[in-house]
Amino acid sequence: MKKQLHLKSILAVMLITFMIPYGYSQSTKLPKVVILATGGTIAGKGASETGSAYTSGQVTIESMIDAVPNIRKLANLSGEQLSNVGSQDMSVEIWLKLAKRINELLAGDVDGIVITHGTDTQEETAFFLNLVVKSDKPVVLTASMRPSSALSADGPLNLYNAVAVAANPEAKGRGIMVVINDKIFSAHSVTKVNTTNVDAFAAPMHGQLGDVNFGNVEFYHYPHGLHTTKSEFSVDGLKELPRVDIVYACADMSPDLIDIMVKAGAKGIVVAGVGDGNMTSTTLEAAKRATSKGIPVVRSSRLCEGAVLIHGEVDDAKYGTVASDELNPQKARVLLMMALLKKRSRENLQQLFLDY
Ligand code: ASP
Repeated sequence: MKKQLHLKSILAVMLITFMIPYGYSQSTKLPKVVILATGGTIAGKGASETGSAYTSGQVTIESMIDAVPNIRKLANLSGEQLSNVGSQDMSVEIWLKLAKRINELLAGDVDGIVITHGTDTQEETAFFLNLVVKSDKPVVLTASMRPSSALSADGPLNLYNAVAVAANPEAKGRGIMVVINDKIFSAHSVTKVNTTNVDAFAAPMHGQLGDVNFGNVEFYHYPHGLHTTKSEFSVDGLKELPRVDIVYACADMSPDLIDIMVKAGAKGIVVAGVGDGNMTSTTLEAAKRATSKGIPVVRSSRLCEGAVLIHGEVDDAKYGTVASDELNPQKARVLLMMALLKKRSRENLQQLFLDY
């Protein structure tokens, strides 16, 4: 009897000694990461592995996870399909659904979120979430430039790296991030710079936050601007956002475009200005007509580098305009949509563009 007991305890010690290092009990300790799928090329499919034609948003989140070897070793993973659209069709409705779901999940025992998304408007979704997610836990958007059916599809490794970042404790407090092509970017600074190359994203003003190579994460920066837990914006009770339009400036631009936007119901306008947020003198007069009706006009730039200065060549106080500082037109639009939920002075609006 004594001998039997002794044998049992030896067996128990052997089990514990060998199973812990080989990951048996580790799986329960892995960080809990939820993948929210929205569509995009990462979920896209084409008829040929070498042809350029394909359709975004065809593959489900379950098949995407199954296509990535060893991904379940990085985190305790689950997936939810929120939408399945090309991000050219991303909408305020999906943004609100996404933000509310993320806040719900992160308020519980989830350690990190990955969002699969199309590349076209990824920076807008990332920046929107940067304003309204109420947690410092990692939230990572990822995407791909080649559809899942393509030769050398980039989606699986991007998804693997995104999960590695979302599961990494060092990723906490860095706001919403975009992980693509081994690079980690902040929502504030990232922008798409190439139509088709796998190296399609850059952060011209502030650079990358870090690198991720086959799941090995290295951070070297924190993001610029207020975000997440420091942001004053919230999606609680929100069902829609005010209409804000963007007008692209050029030589000899038609001044009536701003008047047309106002007539069509825009509650705010962003000008993708030439140079330092400039526009033709006649367009500036149209901007003044809009601002004097209480419709804010934000001067951003069609260039991808450099801040738009307050009172550069434009006297903002005279025209009632606001400078976008470092936000490109598409992100300036997102901030203006959120800002318009409350009545604000021009000075207060200007301050938001400096702070976020
Ligand atoms: N049009 C696609 C999208 O944004 C492009 C991509 O995902 O790379 O959904």
